[in-house]
Amino acid sequence: MADRDGFIWFDGELRPWREVTIHGLTHSLHYGMGVFEGERAYETARGPAIFRLREHTKRLFNSAKILQMDMPYSPEQIDAATMEVICANDLSSAYIRPLVFYGAEGMGLSAKGLKSHVLIAAWSWGAYLGKEALEQGIRVKTSSYSRHHVNIHMVKAKATGNYLNSMLAQREASAIGYDEALLLDREGYVAEGSGENVFMVRDGVLYTPTLTSALEGITRDTVIRLAGELNIPVVEKQLTRDEFYIADEAFFTGTAAEVTPIRELDGRVVGAGSRGPITEKLQSLYFDQVSGRREQHPEWLSYVNDA
Ligand code: PMP
Repeated sequence: MADRDGFIWFDGELRPWREVTIHGLTHSLHYGMGVFEGERAYETARGPAIFRLREHTKRLFNSAKILQMDMPYSPEQIDAATMEVICANDLSSAYIRPLVFYGAEGMGLSAKGLKSHVLIAAWSWGAYLGKEALEQGIRVKTSSYSRHHVNIHMVKAKATGNYLNSMLAQREASAIGYDEALLLDREGYVAEGSGENVFMVRDGVLYTPTLTSALEGITRDTVIRLAGELNIPVVEKQLTRDEFYIADEAFFTGTAAEVTPIRELDGRVVGAGSRGPITEKLQSLYFDQVSGRREQHPEWLSYVNDA
């Protein structure tokens, strides 16, 4: 990953990809306090467009606020830098990774006197769980790890340290042959995937867990709004894993995972065991939306060539 051509925006300027290295005593590397985003730019008829850039930047700033990390740039500067990174790397579509981290100015948990550093990288990245997963669906296992309790980790922050829990769950599931993990909250209700929000369909109604122990996903919000446009009723409530066992359809949402059907959970086939009709409709509308093929929500697309 480190050894490639291109540019990364780092602390205010574009630098050659290979030269963006950091010191071994970088604070965030030791204690896991950093915040980041995962965004995508899609190829459209008007060139690459970043999907819901403003909302991602807003969440980045919210994450920094929750963790009380200084942000040395304005949201407008971060938006402009993100567009610049797509241009500089000549990408027609991309996965984008902004990261804010503490440097190597000092050690210790108080983090006093530490400087926030910001980088934004972008590269070409296809379907996160594989192209086939988008059509066939994936096999999911409920994790033995609980999702963060709200008074242990701050789940509204997309914080680097939060992903230790995600990695443990993801690795556990993949080690026994599953594609992804489903995490329950400390009360036993369904929270989310290791890097995705989750939905299920029953009798034509779309259900998704309340956000107590889950990230406020931007794809989740997009799908809820698209469902509204299709007149599909949406209910946010506490959901149990057995409600997913007997659902007609289920799927994950995320910037990386997009809209990925779940065909099996804990050895139970979900619905017909393939991408369900409502999932397919929402997935196809999602791809139309992100690729600029719809007239609705023009504010969700930041066209890089217009910048
Ligand atoms: N939950 C977690 C834990 C995630 O890492 C992600 C990916 N950012 C999501 C949900 C989905 O969020 P979004 O749709 O904004 O990418």
